Amino acid sequence: NCRNADDVMKAVREYNVSFVQFWFVDVIGTLKSFQITISELEGAFDEGMGFDGSSILGFARIHESDMVAIPDPTTFQLVPWRPVDRPVARMFCDIKNPDGTPYVADSRYVLKRILSKAAEKGYTFYVGPELEFFLFESSKQPTIIDHGGYFDAPPLDLGNDVRRDIIFALNKMGITVEYSHHEVAPSQHEIDLRYAEALQMADIAVTYKTVCKEISRRHGCYASFMPKPIFGQNGSGMHTHQSLFKNGRNVFYDANDKHFLSAECKSYIAGLLKHAPEFCAVTNQWVNSYKRLVPGYEAPVYLAWARRNRSSLVRVPLYKPGKEVATRVELRSPDPACNPYLAFAVMLAAGLKGMEEGYKLPDPVEEDIFEMTTSERSAHKIEALPGSLGEAVAVMEQSALLKEALGEHIFSKFIENKKKEWDDYRVQVTQYELDRYLPFL
Ligand code: GLU
Ligand code: MG
Ligand code: MG
Repeated sequence: NCRNADDVMKAVREYNVSFVQFWFVDVIGTLKSFQITISELEGAFDEGMGFDGSSILGFARIHESDMVAIPDPTTFQLVPWRPVDRPVARMFCDIKNPDGTPYVADSRYVLKRILSKAAEKGYTFYVGPELEFFLFESSKQPTIIDHGGYFDAPPLDLGNDVRRDIIFALNKMGITVEYSHHEVAPSQHEIDLRYAEALQMADIAVTYKTVCKEISRRHGCYASFMPKPIFGQNGSGMHTHQSLFKNGRNVFYDANDKHFLSAECKSYIAGLLKHAPEFCAVTNQWVNSYKRLVPGYEAPVYLAWARRNRSSLVRVPLYKPGKEVATRVELRSPDPACNPYLAFAVMLAAGLKGMEEGYKLPDPVEEDIFEMTTSERSAHKIEALPGSLGEAVAVMEQSALLKEALGEHIFSKFIENKKKEWDDYRVQVTQYELDRYLPFL
């Protein structure tokens, strides 16, 4: 594990590295990469590597397409799926303007900005995302490769060997995995990562998705993070466990509370509940994301919190009640096809807002909200997440919190991009409509 440029130069010589990939993401979280040769590396640490940002989604504005990528030496790792004799390494980059100032469209910068705001108050933000995915025969059709269900063992679980190689590859890249299992839907899987500080975890989440896809490809199948690939089956979520630490203590923990939750934690949860409709377009950024957020598939729809209820938006896991370090809140709405930098940034912004303003947390709802009638829900004052990308974008557009958290540039680029996506979708005539209407109308 490298701490600085000198460590990287040493590792490059020691392992006889041939190329270094410079990694960053565009506004919707797609991994972008270019390779440099070793002779360029030393200079890259000092001055960065220039590139044309004009074709990166959400990046350049007209007349300013020259960007500079500055590698972060702490993210240096060998890429385990490339040749071993002259290995390839990668580093995540910060994107800067030619004058050295941070570039406003850099997702990593957005997350860093809110993390430093939290750090000013002494907080370190830890997250543990659970990224679910499907293994399909190919990317052409969602054709499943096994009929396993939750925790099924081989031979029902035919993804076992793929998961094993994914975990080995992650370990080689310095990423700690806690456990892995077959998920509820056929051909659906989950590999759980050990929680980490949020910036590190956003880098890890991007790496995880890339590793899953690369290793699956080597096994002749296709790993997909599409939120809801199969009608009638569970979709793939990215439940995100969150906690704030200050001076080595978990700010969310209070030994004297009946739920072991501090006042700060309750306000943080209240912040998530209140602002979830506003940040939903970021944590659930595709038309397809909203096909997952429907009743009956363990994905949340309603704005409530609970200890054990899996239909709620926020859950406080009960595995180790009263254990300080394990005290955390789990936000269940995000899906793994989000941009993790922006997703972690907006969650934290919502939680911090709740803490700053001392939001009051409503009572937990332990009954199954999906079973309630509309009037029971309104008696409990339970509202819902946006029902479509179109709705989510409309709510986001009105949000001062999101504008501040993302910065004006990403906020408007993101909305512009997503409005276009919604409009493209809205006018499609689907097979469903033809089947349903054509014979009768
Ligand atoms: N796949 C479910 C979702 O869409 C979650 C299942 C679970 O509880 O792990 O969020
Ligand atoms: Mg799961
Ligand atoms: Mg979970």
